[in-house]
Amino acid sequence: MKSFCITALAICFCWSSGLGPTPAFAADWLVIEANRHHLNTVPQAEWSWFADESEGSQFQTKFQIDGEPTAGTLLIRQADVRLTWRVLVNGTEVGRLQRDENDLIQSLSVPANAVRQGENELVIKSTDKTADDIQVGSIRWSVVPAETLFHEATVNVHVTDIGSKQSLPCRLTIIDQDGSLVPIGGASTDTLAIRTGVVYTSTGHASFGLAAGKYRIYAGRGFEYGSSQTSISVEPRSTKEISLSIGRQVNTDNWVACDTHVHTVTHSGHGDATVAERMVTLAGEGIELPIATDHNKQINYQPDAERQNVRQFFTPVIGNEVTTNFGHFNAFPFRDGVPTPDHTETDWDVLLPSIRNTPDVEVVILNHGRDVHRGYRPFAPENFNAASGDSLDNRKFSFNAMETLNSGAQQTDPLELFHDWMTLNNRGWVITPIGSSDSHDVNRYIVGQGRTYVRTNDKDPGNIDVGKACRDIRDGHVIVSAGLFVNAIVDDRFGPGDLVSAEKSELSIRYSVDCPEWIHPDRVTLFQNGIPIRTTEIQTTDDRTGTWKIARPKHDVFWTVLALGPGIRHPSWPIAQPYQPDSRDWTPKVLSFTGAIRVDVDGDQQFTSARGLAEKLCDDATGDFAALIESLKDYDQAVAVQAASLWQSAHSNLLNEPARSAWQAAEPACREGFARFAKAWRESQIARVENP
Ligand SMILES: [Zn+2]
Ligand SMILES: [Zn+2]
Repeated sequence: MKSFCITALAICFCWSSGLGPTPAFAADWLVIEANRHHLNTVPQAEWSWFADESEGSQFQTKFQIDGEPTAGTLLIRQADVRLTWRVLVNGTEVGRLQRDENDLIQSLSVPANAVRQGENELVIKSTDKTADDIQVGSIRWSVVPAETLFHEATVNVHVTDIGSKQSLPCRLTIIDQDGSLVPIGGASTDTLAIRTGVVYTSTGHASFGLAAGKYRIYAGRGFEYGSSQTSISVEPRSTKEISLSIGRQVNTDNWVACDTHVHTVTHSGHGDATVAERMVTLAGEGIELPIATDHNKQINYQPDAERQNVRQFFTPVIGNEVTTNFGHFNAFPFRDGVPTPDHTETDWDVLLPSIRNTPDVEVVILNHGRDVHRGYRPFAPENFNAASGDSLDNRKFSFNAMETLNSGAQQTDPLELFHDWMTLNNRGWVITPIGSSDSHDVNRYIVGQGRTYVRTNDKDPGNIDVGKACRDIRDGHVIVSAGLFVNAIVDDRFGPGDLVSAEKSELSIRYSVDCPEWIHPDRVTLFQNGIPIRTTEIQTTDDRTGTWKIARPKHDVFWTVLALGPGIRHPSWPIAQPYQPDSRDWTPKVLSFTGAIRVDVDGDQQFTSARGLAEKLCDDATGDFAALIESLKDYDQAVAVQAASLWQSAHSNLLNEPARSAWQAAEPACREGFARFAKAWRESQIARVENP
């Protein structure tokens, strides 16, 4: 336990002469604790970037107040806070740390009766029983109340578009010299959404208060725009005028920026963004097609968007996160007023058709398939063979889209759902990949950080053809984006969602990777039936476009192009840490990939999946395993995986002799495909014993 002695005499608390009891601002801070401390709720570490051992689940210190106690403001720097941490002064709770993993300054108002003359005790503690590594400190105290303190100085910011010189909806991020988000003097309005260190403005104008001090202010507008910044030093009772300009840097012409998964606290009951704040944040992040998906509700943003004068920036769509005990499904578009689907239905064979048969509904998305909700995880090994895409609880994957990236519920492996999606395509399902944010908040998770670009006219964001956009999503004309925008064109004609007719002996795939200047891609990879077949490192901007020449495959395949780069941790666009981590290690990534480009090689004008090809081979082999293995010579690993799945479900002997030796002696693609299936099959069997 540390003890610090501070005295009321140390407080620079000058009264302005003749003006009554108004503080002259610029309160000197009293430092209760200068250092940072690592705490954890439990002895088990949460993250590898923390030391193995923390100082425990409680921080305690003492401080001295001489003279008459007064109300004041406690300022606590905090980082990585995920669970509930209480702050107590002399045993009385005066507030909590913010449940937010960003590095920020939490401000707590402490009433006069909570402090006393002489020795005082400050305690920060948690009684949660799951791991939460956090940092706290420094801790400071001011006798100036928060409502005065954070209005010491006024800052007026105006942000314009570099090109048009017009005012631009945007996000402002305000940090101190340590890089922490700072308390803002002001509250959200119809044109502002304010959180610690963050001000969204729907008009390009923002006026707010700050405590006297030195700051850095960043202006940005989500992924498509550059960033502009300035350093300021503000004096008490001063007003600062700041002009910043940002420009569009990512060309997404004819691709609409869509976030298919948007919540509000108003209608979902958790998170912190009200509907009014959501209108401002959507405009500020440049989302053109937001889908309202509150839990089991169909909300129309139209009236709010009109009232707040942001309707020209986006076209709202009524959706619903149909939240069942066996998975969450985002569905849209709904006509205003139609009844909500029955979320108590647990049989997907009833539920999914009932959603899809609702008038107008085109898209049904399986959300966050690797997260546990109400004890159920759709892609848990007991329910799902991750190599073949087989459902082990006899569910039909008849949703027509799935989240492959959810920036509010990141996976430890950011490509895990991308691989699941490719697996389901090989399994024969026609499924569109989706990027979304699942944001319930103003800043804790940024709306539109994960997003889906839809191949639809985007000239007028306020008048997007919703029906066409939704059909384009259904048909796979999409690019999934979280910090990068990758596109691919085959033979100058075919893009994401298209069927390529492979007439020539060689096909060309022209790729491009785009991003604003504050993001840096480092590789681009071509996947064929889920298997990487070309990778190009990106070192210079010239490397961001290129063409791969690919010999015509031996059978129908689908391609997708993936771009990757190091993740962003900067407070102006931080990628949130994994929501349900399965490792202490985590490396954030920016990424983007195209919807499936299906290649018709046999000229029948349609696409045959790996599953379809394997079914034909199994039929032709008529129960002769050696014949099946022999026929797989001309097929890739994905077809072999599906053949293994079909054989195992019919004969249950793949892991026994002599079948095992037969596939182990086969050609590499066949052998590896069977081995992958067998490994996943074994994992599922074990999981089903452990989780009956
Ligand atoms: Zn959900
Ligand atoms: Zn959700």
